[in-house]
Amino acid sequence: MPVTDCLFCKIVAKEIPAEIVLENDRALAFRDINPQAPTHVLVIPKEHHADAAALAAADDGLADDVLKAAHAVAVQEGVAEGGYRVVFNTGPGAGQTVFHVHAHVLGGRALTWPPG
Ligand code: AMP
Repeated sequence: MPVTDCLFCKIVAKEIPAEIVLENDRALAFRDINPQAPTHVLVIPKEHHADAAALAAADDGLADDVLKAAHAVAVQEGVAEGGYRVVFNTGPGAGQTVFHVHAHVLGGRALTWPPG
């Protein structure tokens, strides 16, 4: 069930515009509004789960679907060969600000480690 005050549920419902780059029956990928790399795409399950822990607990292959969509985005964006990063900020202490789980897919520039 969509969560009424969830920004990303509203993007899934097309109530808020987003630049969608990939969509299937279980996942949606759209460009981050504040990109941190030449490719910065958010990949979400259409079904609402608050964070990566909840997604992992969904136990129906949904986490797998999101990861596969993230890789498909990297291929589509042309960053798979050069290397890309998939990040789930999980919890406020890790910088999560939107509590509908999302994988950041970042690529197109050299990415340093450790992240800030
Ligand atoms: P996080 O801090 O890991 O929760 O990431 C949330 C991300 O959502 C940030 O990178 C924001 O720039 C991005 N964001 C917030 N609102 C929107 C929006 N309406 N469309 C696309 N990306 C958004």
